[in-house]
Amino acid sequence: MRIGYGEDLHALVKGRPLRIGGVVVPADEGEQAHSDGDVLIHAIADALYGAIGSRDIGYHFPDNDPGCLNLKGEVIAHHAVGLVRKAGYEIGNLDCTVFLQQPKLSRLIPQIRSSLASILELNVKRISVKAKTNEGFDAVGEGKAIRAVAVVLLEKENEK
Ligand code: MG
Repeated sequence: MRIGYGEDLHALVKGRPLRIGGVVVPADEGEQAHSDGDVLIHAIADALYGAIGSRDIGYHFPDNDPGCLNLKGEVIAHHAVGLVRKAGYEIGNLDCTVFLQQPKLSRLIPQIRSSLASILELNVKRISVKAKTNEGFDAVGEGKAIRAVAVVLLEKENEK
């Protein structure tokens, strides 16, 4: 078995879509980023890379590379899952938390889980997405940023 942890944070700015786990969430502001800024997918990808000791997103997709401009979260996720499977592992389960002051994400959680299930080609029962505010503290609490953390467990076929 392997365990991986990832986290990401993006500033929120007007004129950008708010992408969370492949879902565009109705909001006044979205993630500022060189890529599409999907904070949850970035945290999950770093957890996957970390679990197999394969560096991080910035190593695989440098943010000063013009080829990575507006890079879709799905492309990053597929790359990370591809490396995981190449290393002989499958995702056992994935647990994530998104920190966002507003809007409240609670009613969108089923949609975000099912989007991640499709992107990661994983049964939705193995995916947990939680949402929290930051209780008004720090940049996230002041509505200036969004943060996500993810923990993933990988299993080899013969360990299941
Ligand atoms: Mg990011």
